[in-house]
Amino acid sequence: MIELNFTEKQTKNVSFTCKIKRTLHTEKSSFQEIAVLETIEFGKMLVLDGTVQTTIEDEFVYHEMITHVPLYTHAEPKRILVIGGGDGGTIKEILKHPTVESVELVEIDERVVQVSKKYLPEISYALNDPRVKINIRDGIEHIKNINTKYDIIIIDSTDPIGPAEGLFTYDFYSNINKKLTDTGILIAQTESPFFNKELIKNVFKNISSIFPIAKLYLANIPTYPSGLWSFTIGSKKYDPTVVNISAKYDINSKYYTKKIHNSCFVLPEFVKELLI
Ligand code: SAM
Repeated sequence: MIELNFTEKQTKNVSFTCKIKRTLHTEKSSFQEIAVLETIEFGKMLVLDGTVQTTIEDEFVYHEMITHVPLYTHAEPKRILVIGGGDGGTIKEILKHPTVESVELVEIDERVVQVSKKYLPEISYALNDPRVKINIRDGIEHIKNINTKYDIIIIDSTDPIGPAEGLFTYDFYSNINKKLTDTGILIAQTESPFFNKELIKNVFKNISSIFPIAKLYLANIPTYPSGLWSFTIGSKKYDPTVVNISAKYDINSKYYTKKIHNSCFVLPEFVKELLI
């Protein structure tokens, strides 16, 4: 019997392979190659330029951790901006918070939104919520040109290659800082502590030089390179490591818990060393 496999080359020397049942969709958009695969172990999988973005089976880890940590840190998150995140998974988690009044998604590639709506409704359904405004635009340009201020800005980007490269720079974080309220929080996905050490170091240095509070936390995501993923927070007022999480409202989640909120900031020595 023929065996079909998908392989992502995670680094020059490491590959991740999983068996697939079939290919549901492939296309080349103006920005990237988009594919939706049906895998055996992880269910449907969104792949951009050969890189796993999300899967039905493990999406909850990434989407819950990029959302609930900053939203529970803020006393009353009302206006949220997501840059990237066209699959809608982050939006789905944001809307679980009762304080949220509006969410804006700024995604450069309209086709990611459309393909996710068609093939991944389990993740993308929240994109149709009336509180959500979708803006098809480059996040870098958007941040420079808007007058609105947000309580939380989430950078839910692809890897720092092509259009996402500028989403990992000092200038971008500095412009985001200006578009946050006085109690605002920035959160960015910052890749693998095994494979992206220099990136993590630079991002943390930049965010620490712009925000009075900078913290990094970790989560285990099986389909992302090395399985260990980092997120970096820049905060103007609230320290995510000292907020009284137990006093907060409850939400439905599968990975995030109030105890995980505190424990995810406890870092292994080799990760701590990147932040000095
Ligand atoms: N969870 C994912 C991960 O870490 O692999 C990220 C998912 S989401 C699909 C990433 C999105 O960022 C993509 O749809 C991509 O089109 C979008 N993106 C990349 N560069 C962008 C930019 N400059 N402005 C707005 N969106 C951008």
